[in-house]
Amino acid sequence: MGKQGGDSTRLINDQGIRLDGRRIDELRPVKIEVGILKNADGSAYIQFGKNKIMAAVYGPKEVHPKHSALPDRSVLRCRYHMSPFSTEERKNPAPSRREIEISKVMREALEPALMLEDYPRTAIDVFVEVLQSDGGSRCAGISAASVALADAGINMRDLVSACAAGKVAGQVVLDVDDTEDKEGQADLPIAVMPSTNQVTLLQLDGQLNDEEFNKAFDWALNGCRKVYQLQREALIGRYFGKNEKVIEVEQ
Ligand code: ADP
Repeated sequence: MGKQGGDSTRLINDQGIRLDGRRIDELRPVKIEVGILKNADGSAYIQFGKNKIMAAVYGPKEVHPKHSALPDRSVLRCRYHMSPFSTEERKNPAPSRREIEISKVMREALEPALMLEDYPRTAIDVFVEVLQSDGGSRCAGISAASVALADAGINMRDLVSACAAGKVAGQVVLDVDDTEDKEGQADLPIAVMPSTNQVTLLQLDGQLNDEEFNKAFDWALNGCRKVYQLQREALIGRYFGKNEKVIEVEQ
């Protein structure tokens, strides 16, 4: 969404508290569940604040059409989609330019973590379905998708964890929600493989000076580390008996 950069002073009050009650360096509550769709090879559900997102993975499987198969690795295909009821006003269910762009950056964010070379002549399909959106859905979708890929048993170098920081009312803030995204001045979503510190997604909507960029990047990276902890706990919970893990992020 484009930045309006209008009067955004109401977004952070004099005590440094944001509209939804968070401090400027605070993440929204995050909940991750693993393996909830019986028909998918791997699946995950994430609540990231008011975002509610399902990720489903199919594969590795035969490629159709056959000519799109690669001899030395699997083809990763991603579809990010917002359901018509995920926004305040009904969204056209047809894929928009924005959804096509997010599907592409999502594939590029996940690909470096996957050992696609282990599955030649196959395809891996990742579906990310946004049931309710509230800003930051690409990050939440990437985090859910990487957990779903792990749940599908795909060989991975690491999980991919994503989180955004931004600029609102002249201040750098962690984890921009929908109102802040629309009325704020910048949004910087990033995705990383936390154990190697490799960045696999970095986008910037709006403007930040050098100092603001470095601060926002550091904060977003910290947010990614917190998401990583929750992703790991959700996967461990799933495979050691507990099917659901609800964790309030330590701030
Ligand atoms: P992200 O969700 O990754 O932050 P954007 O910055 O493009 O992606 O969008 C921010 C938010 O704007 C979305 O999460 C969603 O809440 C809202 N939004 C996006 N597209 C639409 C749409 N077609 N109708 C209504 N709201 C939308």
